[in-house]
Amino acid sequence: MSEIVIDQELLKPAQRQIVVIGGGVIGMSTAYFLAEAGHQVALIEQRRNVAEVATLGNSGMLAAASTTPWAINGMRKRILSGLFSQEAGTILNARLSPSLWRWLLRWTSTPELQRYQLHCERMQRLASYSQHILLQLQQQCQLEYEQSHGLLQLFRSEKELAATAPLQAMLSERNVAYSLLDGAAAQALEPALATARSVAGGLYFPELASGNCTLFTKQLKSLAQASGVQFHFDLRVDAVEPQDGRVALKIGGDILHADAVVVAAGTGSARLLKNLGVKVPLQAVKTYTATAAVKNHDVAPKLALQDNAYKVTMARFGERIRIAGVAELGATDTTIDDKALRTLLKVTQDWYPDAANYHNAQMWTGHIPMLADEVPLVGATASSNVYINIGHGGSGWSMALGAAKIVADQISGRSPEIDIDGLTLARYRR
Ligand SMILES: Cc1cc2nc3c(=O)[nH]c(=O)nc-3n(C[C@H](O)[C@H](O)[C@H](O)COP(=O)(O)OP(=O)(O)OC[C@H]3O[C@@H](n4cnc5c(N)ncnc54)[C@H](O)[C@@H]3O)c2cc1C
Repeated sequence: MSEIVIDQELLKPAQRQIVVIGGGVIGMSTAYFLAEAGHQVALIEQRRNVAEVATLGNSGMLAAASTTPWAINGMRKRILSGLFSQEAGTILNARLSPSLWRWLLRWTSTPELQRYQLHCERMQRLASYSQHILLQLQQQCQLEYEQSHGLLQLFRSEKELAATAPLQAMLSERNVAYSLLDGAAAQALEPALATARSVAGGLYFPELASGNCTLFTKQLKSLAQASGVQFHFDLRVDAVEPQDGRVALKIGGDILHADAVVVAAGTGSARLLKNLGVKVPLQAVKTYTATAAVKNHDVAPKLALQDNAYKVTMARFGERIRIAGVAELGATDTTIDDKALRTLLKVTQDWYPDAANYHNAQMWTGHIPMLADEVPLVGATASSNVYINIGHGGSGWSMALGAAKIVADQISGRSPEIDIDGLTLARYRR
């Protein structure tokens, strides 16, 4: 184990010593903004580098204003019918615990219209703020993370397309740039869809982007290092405890003290918070990606695509295509489930059958930290000087910068730049 020493020489009198637990895109973004605010920041990560867990599997959509919960209308029916089909966007694992059942009931009640709209509004508020911050960061720092512009949500049937009416109403209300396309228009926009199975239509978002989240997180790491963030890898925080106005972190046999701590430990956050008496409905949802080299540029997609029915995405990462999706509930392992693999392959075959050799794709599976309402939790806890930035679910990258900036502003004693109603622990106390 490496010894943790916070370099006192770098410390200015007004600075607070802050520890961020977790080196995914959420912890990394938080550490960056805290350092930018002038604090002395140490990031503790149990792996050897940043972006090695959920962030590594990210499929690359910076969805901003089109961010919606994973759980969509008819989710319970979809889960049940998935039990008997060869492919399914959501897989129910036999090892369901009582707590997971409770979470599942809450998760699948999201699509009830009023609740769905409320959750969408909260997620989109945070994601739009993140998009705004990303634009500013881009201008200052020229980040390169295999980004491209334009996102196309594809629908397989008229029925599916018609079900987007509430979403479209919300988008129009908020002046989000998008166009509703019929099948022919979608194929004209993305010529790689020429050989696709029948396309009923799509929603096209010209201002949304995609890119490589791992590269992004590592670039943020370099910027944070330049701003003085100290990184401590291969260290696991066992417990966090408020102590005499400060916070004690137990790490193996060692204790580290800090002025404040931000728990941004992805799926590991619930365990750390439980010791503090903070109970949150956070589940680790297993999901998958396949990354395949482009073999035929003429029929390879240029736009990022979301398949609405299977909740599978496809995005270009330079000369590769990343396909991602499938929510497997109740699985703690990291083996590749056959049904999940078949689902990803089916989607590729339906939309871009000749773009890549998918059977040689590199497979990855891991767990997403997801709250039952899919809206992240940011800010203070009842334990003094312990903050959280957790539960970003399937749209975590899209919301990362905004969530991090809110937490950094709160710790710095500044009011967040956006309304944070519904994004804090207060929503569980109502
Ligand atoms: C397949 C897939 C596709 C996705 N696609 C998209 C997308 O297209 N668009 C989008 O916006 N989002 C997407 N997401 C979601 C997004 O990637 C996640 O929400 C985000 O990466 C979560 O980041 P995190 O930092 O909270 O978690 P993680 O990346 O898991 O990081 C948490 C870190 O905390 C560390 N840790 C945990 N416990 C401890 C401890 N006790 N001590 C020290 N370290 C600890 C872990 O090792 C880990 O590195 C996708 C996710 C997946 C998996």
